[in-house]
Amino acid sequence: MQITENQDLTQYNTFHVPAKARYFVLVENKSELPQLIDFANHKQLPILILGQGSNVLFTRDLNMIVTKFNFSNLQITSQTHDSTIIQVQAGKIWDNFVAWTVENNLYGAVNLSFIPGTVGAAPVQNIGAYGTEVAQIIEKVEVFDLQTLNFTEIHKQNCQFAYRSSIFKTQLKNKAFITSVTFKLSKKPYFNLQYKDLQHLKNNPGLNLQLLRQTIGQIRHKKLPDPKTIGNAGSFFKNPIVSKEQARQLKDRWPQMPQYQLNNAVKIPAGWLIDNLGLKGYKMGQAAVYQHNALVLVNLGNATGKQILKLANFIIDKVFEIYKIKLEPEVNIF
Ligand SMILES: Cc1cc2nc3c(=O)[nH]c(=O)nc-3n(C[C@H](O)[C@H](O)[C@H](O)COP(=O)(O)OP(=O)(O)OC[C@H]3O[C@@H](n4cnc5c(N)ncnc54)[C@H](O)[C@@H]3O)c2cc1C
Repeated sequence: MQITENQDLTQYNTFHVPAKARYFVLVENKSELPQLIDFANHKQLPILILGQGSNVLFTRDLNMIVTKFNFSNLQITSQTHDSTIIQVQAGKIWDNFVAWTVENNLYGAVNLSFIPGTVGAAPVQNIGAYGTEVAQIIEKVEVFDLQTLNFTEIHKQNCQFAYRSSIFKTQLKNKAFITSVTFKLSKKPYFNLQYKDLQHLKNNPGLNLQLLRQTIGQIRHKKLPDPKTIGNAGSFFKNPIVSKEQARQLKDRWPQMPQYQLNNAVKIPAGWLIDNLGLKGYKMGQAAVYQHNALVLVNLGNATGKQILKLANFIIDKVFEIYKIKLEPEVNIF
């Protein structure tokens, strides 16, 4: 365990906003976790676990113990004729894992290519992209229970996976650390091409995992700013889900509004709601709505977390005023 005091977190969050952590602890091995809890008890401070900081917004200094896991082993635990089971430790960079699945001709993860972050954070908001959610390939999640100080496994059925949510974001928030995730990937080829920008690949005789990954990279490049050059945390808001009745009324007033039917409700793209208010590219000091994608808020240079939050709240209020829909942040705000 490596401990530093008053650590600046600017480089540890993809918005690149400044914030200090009272203590910053790098954990090299999961066997050190009881020691981390002892340290937190001794200092009487709460712990915040950070992956790559690509889904957080820091709005203040954190009088906390901010910890990062550096353990990142990947192990094939079993195989059948059709599938491979792989256990991956929390600190592994998510996209390095996806790249590994592509190199090894394993099917199921490729649509989640190039999502920033760690394997440990992937189940927290059930990351998703291009018609795939990580829940579809998870078998179980190993956690360190902060109350019992034991490692336990949570089977996928008990993870309460939902749209950008899971038990780790709700009931188990601040109660368990994810230490590894076990995935089941298919050896049999299958491609999820339901997303409209991928459908053209259906008729491509050269379709393989590499081509799909490359295509997804190109689409993402057009829609999402690279956090290395423009601070951001991807989609800032969740897409709201409204009743069928409310969706019908909205459609009467805004016939162009895209709507996606769910079982008993309707999902509406938050980006469209914001864009339709003319807010794409809108600036509030150094915080802005990304000019190519209204769902993404960006740090134009030296915005603070508070300024980005002010912009987010302005958007939430405007959207509510016009559509009577309450947007919820997807990003975790501290
Ligand atoms: C450019 C860009 C594009 C993005 N595109 C997508 C996308 O397509 N789809 C998508 O779903 N998301 C997307 N995101 C959001 C982000 O990549 C994911 O949410 C990712 O899983 C966050 O990983 P992280 O390691 O950075 O987590 P962090 O941001 O560090 O943490 C996120 C939350 O998870 C908790 N957490 C982290 N690690 C653990 C752990 N081991 N145990 C328990 N809790 C933990 C943290 O406390 C925090 O509450 C994007 C972000 C960016 C910047």
